[in-house]
Amino acid sequence: MKKQHFQQTEWGIACKIGKVTYLNKNLDKYPKLKEAILNHEKEHSDTYRLRDVWVDLNGKHLASVKKEYYMFFLRHPKALVTFLPVWKYNNVLVFDPIMIFMWVLCFSFIFLLKFIGNL
Ligand SMILES: [Zn+2]
Repeated sequence: MKKQHFQQTEWGIACKIGKVTYLNKNLDKYPKLKEAILNHEKEHSDTYRLRDVWVDLNGKHLASVKKEYYMFFLRHPKALVTFLPVWKYNNVLVFDPIMIFMWVLCFSFIFLLKFIGNL
């Protein structure tokens, strides 16, 4: 079995960087959610590859804890940085390809609406 390294964080919910999995320290209060997130992070490879995009979009482990997942963000808003395209974990800049794509999509949409509005 591969050795797992864990580190607690205040920001974001969970993130795997190389062999280290960062977990929000408040997850200890939600064992069911924590287990689901751990199972999810375990599916990720050490480097973010195309396969990992599928792991994130699929999100099968999180499907059963959706409500707890959203409640967690309400109670611990610092975890919301998970949705930023770029964030720093332990002084390492981490890019999230899916979030970058979503943000670009979102801004293109706003730009398009503005453009149509000006016609
Ligand atoms: Zn993931």
